[in-house]
Amino acid sequence: MHGLRRPLQNLALLLMLIPIRPRALEGQQWPVHDTARPAPPAVEPGTVQQPPSDAIVLFAGPDLSQWKMKSGGPAAWKVDGDYFEIVPGTGDMVSARGFGDCQLHLEWATPLPARGEGQDRGNSGIFLMGLYEVQILDSYRSRTYADGQAAALYGQFPPLVNASRPPGAWQSFDIVFRRPRFSADGKLQRPARMTIFHNGVLVHDNVELTGATAHKVRATYQAHPDRLPLLLQDHGHPVRFRNIWLRELPSP
Ligand code: MG
Repeated sequence: MHGLRRPLQNLALLLMLIPIRPRALEGQQWPVHDTARPAPPAVEPGTVQQPPSDAIVLFAGPDLSQWKMKSGGPAAWKVDGDYFEIVPGTGDMVSARGFGDCQLHLEWATPLPARGEGQDRGNSGIFLMGLYEVQILDSYRSRTYADGQAAALYGQFPPLVNASRPPGAWQSFDIVFRRPRFSADGKLQRPARMTIFHNGVLVHDNVELTGATAHKVRATYQAHPDRLPLLLQDHGHPVRFRNIWLRELPSP
């Protein structure tokens, strides 16, 4: 017994001696208050009408040129002034460009009058990298499974609160997305992470995703490129979107 226990104790002692640098300290190569430390770039904060100055505007109306159908061909959803609306049956739409780490803002509204119940009520979704869905749904006084309601990381995490507005009302998502990291041999090094505000209310706080969005099965990861298009889901309901912009984030 002693012979086994002592090496384990020695190992525990050894592990305690390995210096652990908290993440917060990793960036502390600068002396405190060093005036030579590069200042963060200045950014004019945005409003509903005006994205920040360094944003990539993906839709401000009426131009849908930043989008195309996933199946190929030009964007087929219906544009009306400053918003566009899903044309059910036309399929999912993807951004023309690919993105990885980003801050994403988008506004959406579920149909009024509301129709259907549960998942069959104002369903769409924004998929970061076409793989990681933030659910869009009419969850205003309408119930479904918690990990599938509005602002859920679909099939994985319910939002911290239900911050839904009524059907027909414009709602917003502000998403901070960190893509997963894979090693050269395709192994997961770090899972994807999301922080999300729904209508300005924190609903996910730096949550680690368990994998790419899946339906009725546990999500898993498969290695993929560093940049992939955003995807808006056609779930058969005429959900509307407006004011979509994105800021690419440098690697942490
Ligand atoms: Mg959906």
